[in-house]
Amino acid sequence: MAAGGWANPKSIKTYIEPNSKKELMKQAFAKWSVVTNNKIVFKYVSNPNDAQIKVIFVKDASMAGLEHAIGVTHFQQDVYTGEMKYAQIDIADHVPGSVGRLMPKDRIFRVMIHEIGHAIGLKHSADTASIMYPTAISRNQAITKGDLNTLDRIYGWK
Ligand SMILES: [Zn+2]
Repeated sequence: MAAGGWANPKSIKTYIEPNSKKELMKQAFAKWSVVTNNKIVFKYVSNPNDAQIKVIFVKDASMAGLEHAIGVTHFQQDVYTGEMKYAQIDIADHVPGSVGRLMPKDRIFRVMIHEIGHAIGLKHSADTASIMYPTAISRNQAITKGDLNTLDRIYGWK
C-alpha cells in the first residue's frame, strides 16, 4: 500500500452518529464501495470508540471556522508510513449561517461523498467535474475516472 490510505480498505470500521441523515450517509459510503468494485468496504460498528472513521452531525460546520461550511474531515496519518489511522467527518445539516434552514438533501449527499473521499485518502482535485474539487460548484460533480486512478495509486491496486 502506498502512503495515504487505510491498511484494511476492505473492512474499515465505521461509526455514524444517530441522526435523520444516517441512512443518507450510509448511501454515500456505499457509493464508494460500488465505484471501487468493493475494494473499499465500510464495516459498521456500534461503539464509536471502535471506529476508524467516525461521522458526527453538527449544526453548522462553518461556525467552527473550518475549511468547508457544510462538511469537514479531520484525519491522522502515521508519521512514518503515511497510513491512515483515524478520520472524523463532521457533516452540517443546516445551511451555513442559518439557524433553521435545512440543507437540500442532494447537496448534503454530494458533501458526504466529498468528505468520505478525504477519509479514504483523496486530496482535492483541480478537475471541476470531480466531486473532489474544493468547492461545490455544480450538481453534476461526481466521482471521476481521475479520482479512481488516484485511489489505484494510493492503494497500489494497479
Ligand atoms: Zn475538501
